[in-house]
This record gives sequence, structure tokens and C-alpha cells, in this order.
Amino acid sequence: MTPVRAVSSAVQVRLTTRSTGELYVTEKQWLRATLSCCPWHPKGGCGFCRHGTYPRVRPRGTLIARWYCPTQRRTVSALPDALASHFSGTLADIEAHVLATQLGASLASVAMGRRLEIELPGALRYLSRVCKAVHKALTLCRGLLPDTMAHLPPTIAGFSTLCGEAGVLATLRHLMVRHLRQLPTPLGFNPSHNNPTHRTSGFQHQTGRDPPCAVLDPVNEPITDRSLQEKAS
Ligand SMILES: [Zn+2]
Repeated sequence: MTPVRAVSSAVQVRLTTRSTGELYVTEKQWLRATLSCCPWHPKGGCGFCRHGTYPRVRPRGTLIARWYCPTQRRTVSALPDALASHFSGTLADIEAHVLATQLGASLASVAMGRRLEIELPGALRYLSRVCKAVHKALTLCRGLLPDTMAHLPPTIAGFSTLCGEAGVLATLRHLMVRHLRQLPTPLGFNPSHNNPTHRTSGFQHQTGRDPPCAVLDPVNEPITDRSLQEKAS
């Protein structure tokens, strides 16, 4: 009934916010998302501009701020920290699915217990896919920050000793900020890692400048300017 995967061809950057997915929606934070420069042309001059929003299925009511570079002919979207990349829902949702699968008696029992709103065969495929993606991301995190993570089992339970109550994936979205372009979705922004033909052995540290990240502006101020809302939507 409800598609599980959120589809977007846009290049993703991080929208820095500590808010939950629900608060992001309640406060319509996409209206306050600003991006200081084009990812491809940081010195400007390319006509980089705001390009409306696109919706996501969950949390219900979610819109994602988007920009467009006419020179590159590509869009850029700002994914708030709480949301999963290229998967529907929040990182907390994803983490709960993976943890339940890890602890559950079978994928089928987890699929039925988690109420994924899709038929069982689809739910099984989804759970299998999301667990593989998360465990691959955890394995890569261990390699990228070995001093901090190499001793941790590459599971949600294993990483919870490091990340605490804030949640494993939400904490890693912050800790691994310089590597999000390389890490697989739903934690990072690289969907190609989840392709069966992708070779993990080719994974390398990425060099070069950090990508820009979107921020909320004005910080900590409610939206009262109606013209801003209309301009941004
Ligand atoms: Zn540009």
C-alpha cells in the first residue's frame, strides 16, 4: 500500500538540526533551511538557487528543502539529521527495525510485529535490505574511526555502548559527518553501497573539502514571516 523507499535523484546534504522527525514537521523546519553555497561551485556565479520542496511519506507531512544548480543541472536536497537517507521514516525507525530483527525469532515475526504497512513478502525483503545496509555502514564506521569503534561488534546492540540513549544511527550521523557521502544509506548518503554489485573492497577515504551543510536560519526563532513561507514553498 505505502511505498517504503523514498525516491530522490537529488544530491543530499545534511540539514543540521537536533530535532526529531516529528518536531521537524511540526515546526516546518524546511522553511528555515539555508545552504550557503553550491556544492559544485562554492565560489558562486552558477545561479544556484532555492528550488522548492519535495515530500516524503514518513513522518507524515515531511517536506524536504531543495536547491538547483543550473550550471550542473542537478538538484541538492537538505536531509534533516533525524531522517533516513533513501529509506522512508526516521533513523530511529530504522534502528528499531534492525534491533528488533537482531533480537527477534524470525524476520517474519518482526515484520508482522513492526506493522510495516506492506505485504509480508515485501516486508521481509525490506527488513533484509535495511539490516544489510545498516550492518555494512557499521562495519565501515569501524574502519573509518578505528580508535573509537574497531572494538565494537558491527551491530546496533554493539554500538549502543558507544552511542548511548541518543540512538546509534542518530549519533553516527553526527560522528561520521565527514564521511556521509561515502557511507551507505540510510545512515550515509551513498545509495550505491547497497547495490549487490558494489565492491566494498574499493572503499577508500575521500579527500578534498567537506561538502556544505544546510542550517536552520534564523536559529531558534519561530517562523512568523508569512512571506518567507510563501517564498520558500
Ligand atoms: Zn553551482
